[in-house]
Amino acid sequence: MDFSQTLIEKSDAILDKWVEAVYQDQEIEATKELTFKAIQDSLPHVLKALATVLSKSETSDLQTVVDASLEHGRLRAEQGFEPEEIAREYRLLRFVIFSFLEEDLLQASPKDVLRAVRLIDTVIDEAIARCFNSYTQARLQELKQLQNHLRLTNQELTRLVRASKDSLSHLAHELKTPLTSIIGYSDLFLRQHRQQLGVQDTYSNIESIERVLKNGRLLLRLINDTLEISRYEAGTMRLQPTLTNVPELINSVIEIIEPLARAKQLSLVVNCDRAPEQVTTDPLRLQQVLTNLLSNAIRYTESGLVRLECWLLTQEQWAISIADSGIGISADAQVEIFNPYFRAIADPQVQNSDGTGLGLAIVSRLVQLMQGEIKVNSELAKGSTFTVILPLEAVTQG
Ligand code: ADP
Repeated sequence: MDFSQTLIEKSDAILDKWVEAVYQDQEIEATKELTFKAIQDSLPHVLKALATVLSKSETSDLQTVVDASLEHGRLRAEQGFEPEEIAREYRLLRFVIFSFLEEDLLQASPKDVLRAVRLIDTVIDEAIARCFNSYTQARLQELKQLQNHLRLTNQELTRLVRASKDSLSHLAHELKTPLTSIIGYSDLFLRQHRQQLGVQDTYSNIESIERVLKNGRLLLRLINDTLEISRYEAGTMRLQPTLTNVPELINSVIEIIEPLARAKQLSLVVNCDRAPEQVTTDPLRLQQVLTNLLSNAIRYTESGLVRLECWLLTQEQWAISIADSGIGISADAQVEIFNPYFRAIADPQVQNSDGTGLGLAIVSRLVQLMQGEIKVNSELAKGSTFTVILPLEAVTQG
């Protein structure tokens, strides 16, 4: 009994039924995007090759199936089929072929039936294996192209970011000189006018010049802070750890901050009894972190106190906390306060306009540079506590 003859004679009908089955199958989603013709495209070759191989009793001559299945796999990869959709496609082929051969098989001897089933299974399995092979190759190729494309895009983006950072830093440096002279001259003008008692200048002129001075200073701080952030992002900021006397450093920070607290009639409490005497850190950076946190605490507190505490935490770490009884920070804002330019506008009345939104972004980067960590604990209308944990011995990094 020659089953291949039936296959060859009915190949058009088998093909139609197969394509129809693939097209209708809800689990083969890739076909939704394709036309009937597109699905059919490579199937005739596969089917013809299968029939040819089956017509010979030797399974060894599989080259035609191999070629046709490879082509089929490439096409399916192009069409966006998933591997399980291809497997399902072949399962449907097996089903259709057996449904067409059913009549012949019922009349054949068990030996012939067994031979036909084995042969058809072997050939279809081989076809699936080859099809997957070329499918995987095509997908790998696609991935490689994508990877190359991404690499080039990444290079281009890095170049653009670097160029824009360079020009931003350049612009910031250029702005600093005229701005410093605007501030210098307005300051001088104001001081002279305050000294010359008989001057006829109007109050509003003085007020305008004070505004120029205030905004000029704010702009200069913004520029300096932006430059600081970009230096950190560019990786050019280096830690310079030295043996540092903790009480001396704390005192020098308090001396700077004290007048600000006094101006707002806030009590400034310091408790560093349990602090280590000496640590190895970058004293300038630490001073910068503490003045920033303390001036924020004062800026966002209208009454009550600001407390600085430091203590030995473990054999390797020490901690500094700065707590205030100010406006507090909402839970949502706490997640964002370390991002550049973020300002939590909880109460516009209390929120001063002289902030840049860069202070905490710089603080968190500096703490990271000092190999430490910073945490915030706060409740709206109750106050905030910023805790910085630092190593007792920071190491110089290459
Ligand atoms: P800014 O220059 O605006 O103070 P920061 O980066 O230092 O910028 O702080 C970001 C925002 O976090 C501030 O605008 C303020 O809303 C909030 N914030 C910072 N410190 C405190 C604090 N001690 N109490 C309440 N809010 C604070």
